[in-house]
Amino acid sequence: MTVRIEKIRCIATAPADIRLVVVKVETSDSGLYGLGCATFTQRPSAVIEAVESYLDPFLRGRDVNEIEDIFQSSYVSSYWRQGPVLNNALSGVDMALWDIKGKRAGMPVHDLLGGKTRMAAPVYVHASGRDFAEVTDRARALMAEGFRHVRIQSEVPGQSTYGTESDLKTHEQVNGPTSPQNIFEPADYARLAPRLFEHVRSELGDEVELLHDVHERLPAPLAMQLAKDLEPYRLFFLEDALPPEELTYFRRLREASHVPLAMGELFTNVNEYLPLIREQLIDFIRVHISDVGGLSMARKIAALCEFFSVRTAWHGPGDTSPIGHAANLALDVSISNFGIQEFTVFNQATLDVFPGCPELRDGMLWPNDAPGWGIELDEELAAKFPYPDHPFNGAWPAIRRRDGSCVKP
Ligand code: MG
Repeated sequence: MTVRIEKIRCIATAPADIRLVVVKVETSDSGLYGLGCATFTQRPSAVIEAVESYLDPFLRGRDVNEIEDIFQSSYVSSYWRQGPVLNNALSGVDMALWDIKGKRAGMPVHDLLGGKTRMAAPVYVHASGRDFAEVTDRARALMAEGFRHVRIQSEVPGQSTYGTESDLKTHEQVNGPTSPQNIFEPADYARLAPRLFEHVRSELGDEVELLHDVHERLPAPLAMQLAKDLEPYRLFFLEDALPPEELTYFRRLREASHVPLAMGELFTNVNEYLPLIREQLIDFIRVHISDVGGLSMARKIAALCEFFSVRTAWHGPGDTSPIGHAANLALDVSISNFGIQEFTVFNQATLDVFPGCPELRDGMLWPNDAPGWGIELDEELAAKFPYPDHPFNGAWPAIRRRDGSCVKP
């Protein structure tokens, strides 16, 4: 019997005070539905509009089995394409259809993708602090909990430094354009980061894998200098050393340093990641699965990477719903070129709103073996966690240099 799409709608919820968008695809088979992640936390209402005003009417009546054709036809229906809003909208539907296919087959999605190549996915988590001692203490505590991979970030004193509480405060308080709280000076940070690694390595030894995210905050020559300065500390990877606008510089960065490079959480367009993979200019692909269009696109990227010895490190921040984390994990445990998985530990409210979340144990994320994603969404409870008040509806305020010029976030 053909099962058809009856309705596509969005559920907006923020159980961890982070704006999530989940897409629900309802079908003609009573009670059968799928869930997908469409979370673009800086522009959530734009994604909801794209799903409910465009994809819902376009796809009603379609056979739920035809995932690839639904992707391809929806993808070109906007004519202009490959931007984050429309990719997230596509992703919500795409992941929901994989969930439905798994439920109909009685199989978890990782089995639809070929079955397990590993039991669970090792994850990395974040240790941030106001100074080196605080970063070290937090990393040590995470190691005691069983984590073997830790990303370390330390505050540049008095500056809005990515990955630290100073940066979060900037985002929450939304100060004026040249408030001292929003200041960031790239050269100060580039001098501090190698000293952080020297300290943490000397304190924690060689057993732990250390990672670091530049978050595209350095001009290219400083990024190249930092990559060279970090070489003695044996990083697992150095992430987003350059912004997507400066991809051609990766050739020089690659020649200058042997530090493993991760790149791409901001990528939305195939022409951004294809050259880096084909020329083996990066070691880890970091795309955010919903931002490239969903599971269908991400599994193609994973397969492409396999042939060029690029490993995966899917973006897994707090602004990924548990459905998005489940999609990351389905790929992690079913591909051969898995590298590492970034993970943000779910709070209790998130676990309550999304029963069936993957389990974190021994520094690894363990997939649910229930059909589809194996995750439910308690809509009544989700409604009790509306988006938090924010003057820009989640958009980021500017970070600026002392002279008032804007830096990348
Ligand atoms: Mg990052």
